[in-house]
Amino acid sequence: MMHRHQMTCAHFLELADAFALDALDELEQRACARHVTRMIHHHGCREALAVARGVVDYLAVLVPGGTAPPALWSAIQARLGMGSGSSNAEWL
Ligand SMILES: [Zn+2]
Repeated sequence: MMHRHQMTCAHFLELADAFALDALDELEQRACARHVTRMIHHHGCREALAVARGVVDYLAVLVPGGTAPPALWSAIQARLGMGSGSSNAEWL
């Protein structure tokens, strides 16, 4: 087993989304934080984290403190699509 304190890039990439969501247990959160600040050649770890954080921020803006229930998405879509929708499409 290679399970010392050092996380591999592959392992980090698997956990990046959960890490950004603060959904890992404390040890894993710390291991991820340590890994991404490590001065080694990473295989896309920081980019993956930036993307994951971007998604998290976006969700947080829509729904502070939780994930969006389907009903909310429908409501958002209904607002965006007020009117017939076909005339709005010309703006895009
Ligand atoms: Zn890495």
